[in-house]
Amino acid sequence: MLDTKSAPDVDTLTEAEAAEELARLAADIAHHDAAYHTLDAPEISDADYDALRRRNSAIEARFPELIRADSPSARVGGAVESGFSKLRHRVPMLSLDNAFGAEEFAEFCARAKRFLGRTEPLVFVAEPKIDGLSINLSYEHGRFVRGATRGDGTEGEDVTANLRTMKSVPDQLIGEAPAFIEVRGEVFMTKADFLTLNQTQAEAGSKIFANPRNAAAGSLRQLDTRITASRPLSLFAYAQGESSEPVAATHWDYLQRLTAWGFDVNPLSRRLENETDAEAFQNEIGLERSGLGYDIDGVVYKIDDLSLQRRLGFVGRAPRWAIAWKFPAEQATTVLREIRIQVGRTGALTPVAELEPVNVGGVLVARATLHNEDEIARKDIRVGDTVVLQRAGDVIPQIVSVVLERRPEDSTAFVFPAVCPACGSHAVRPPGEVVKRCTGGLICSAQLVERLIHFVSRTAFDIDGLGGKTIQEFYNEGWLHSPADIFKLPEREEVIATREGWGKLSARNLSRSIAARRTISLERFIYALGIRRIGESNAKLLARHYGSFANWRAQMLAARQIGSDERSELGSISGIGPTIAEELTDFFDEPRNIATLDEVAAELTIQDAARAESADSPVAGKTVVFTGTLETLTRPEAKARAESLGAKVTDSVSKKTDIVVVGADAGSKARKAAELGVRTMTEAEWRELVG
Ligand SMILES: [Zn+2]
Repeated sequence: MLDTKSAPDVDTLTEAEAAEELARLAADIAHHDAAYHTLDAPEISDADYDALRRRNSAIEARFPELIRADSPSARVGGAVESGFSKLRHRVPMLSLDNAFGAEEFAEFCARAKRFLGRTEPLVFVAEPKIDGLSINLSYEHGRFVRGATRGDGTEGEDVTANLRTMKSVPDQLIGEAPAFIEVRGEVFMTKADFLTLNQTQAEAGSKIFANPRNAAAGSLRQLDTRITASRPLSLFAYAQGESSEPVAATHWDYLQRLTAWGFDVNPLSRRLENETDAEAFQNEIGLERSGLGYDIDGVVYKIDDLSLQRRLGFVGRAPRWAIAWKFPAEQATTVLREIRIQVGRTGALTPVAELEPVNVGGVLVARATLHNEDEIARKDIRVGDTVVLQRAGDVIPQIVSVVLERRPEDSTAFVFPAVCPACGSHAVRPPGEVVKRCTGGLICSAQLVERLIHFVSRTAFDIDGLGGKTIQEFYNEGWLHSPADIFKLPEREEVIATREGWGKLSARNLSRSIAARRTISLERFIYALGIRRIGESNAKLLARHYGSFANWRAQMLAARQIGSDERSELGSISGIGPTIAEELTDFFDEPRNIATLDEVAAELTIQDAARAESADSPVAGKTVVFTGTLETLTRPEAKARAESLGAKVTDSVSKKTDIVVVGADAGSKARKAAELGVRTMTEAEWRELVG
């Protein structure tokens, strides 16, 4: 990738060099747009991305005759990926030009005033710029009918079903509304929700998001609506698209209308009577920034008067009446002392940078994740390098780049290990994946120790007095080879009592807390096994569905056969799906895993899953399928309610289905129910039945 910092001054470029660079920039920017918009996985920081775009614009300004047909300045970014149907926006969705300081903001104001032939000050509305995903919501006679992502600005993805799961997207506007109106806003995830989600994802061995913005985008762009429904997404509305009639004369009044209709509008938005108030507002929000519950990367200033907005119109992809004044990134430089490779419970090798501790935006940072092998190679990060560190989205520290001038002379490129640093087994990278994994499985000490730590952790077996350090210690003694060995520790109570830091009392307490956990719920047991993608919630789903350990084990063994009834039953459990089904059957495909499982089960009393069956629940033990659009409940609500009454909710209709609840526009499932003679009922009848 082009390094804009060391690139030659635009004024010194020859025409040939300029043409060559524009071609390279077009390709680079298209690549990063795709990574950002389509894959939700940006490879460079926003600041670097902006630098590429600015360099492109600067060269185009000097050589207008060289502007390419595929110039990035003519595009907003992100082509539409397959999977969602496309929706064309009636009015294109914009991208904003950026200002990076008071001077650039003043230039923007001067340009607008020149264009309008105006000398009196401009009135602005200032809105914090949320780092999220822009969407367009269409309402017909006040009712939400469809919604789309921005996509490339003219055409986005139809994510209507997913938007319907969000509380902050009103289904019906309150009060008077035009016959047709498009409302635009930003879908985002709060910092707290982001951290919780990543923790859950990590436990389940699923994708970790780089920042709240990617988490929001990844959550909204799910083909499975249930996943979106389970993610905590928020929305601030801030702009209008097409409208069948004018709804306001100023942008500020429009924001008041949005609030009245039932949208959330950012409460920090403010009307500024004079453009000279912008700098103070920018500083004020800048100070509040780190304390906000969500990420912002600047403030958007829009000229308030909508008739002035219309006169100003657009240049290229951006309006002349609005600008995003960005905050500088919080960065610091420090020295990278060491690159350490951590081995996780599932064998993933994760490189971690150990840094000279440094203060970045008020937080002391001593470590940063390097993500994976490719990331290190792409940035050519080496031990001993001075690196630029940035807190991305205010949350996770990232290494942005290396200060090459300060690289030690004897420096060598980092070689990612081909074997596991813990057990020496080969580390492999399946095609298409970025993570290298240790193939040692059960013989890998790091994986085993991580699995044991997971096994005894608070949300699994929750064994008091047995933390990560003790597990490692006992492992080193050769006492722990599998989870079952944990239950043999009480036999060593006397030896443990003589160890440094222990005594009779603490050794006895350990034996007691281990004994107390010999009885365990099925869901905790399944979760404790540490199977990839089986976090707490999936373990609970499995326990509820299969009821007992013996039944679960037998069904999983049978489900290994692709095409078997057991396999399709597993995949049809609401919330499980084929990918997770495969992780489970892979686990049961490995004889050593079954041996380990049986060995530990023999030490335990595994309680049958507590079903919320009550004698008076008419749906207890029944298998229920919801299909079509429900009017009074969201799908997740309906499902949770049914499960709390002891019903099993599945996604497909079979002979085993007891009830199919048919909503509006129900399709093949309703037909199949009729064919199989399964009982069907309307939403109203269902509500009557369950009270
Ligand atoms: Zn290993």
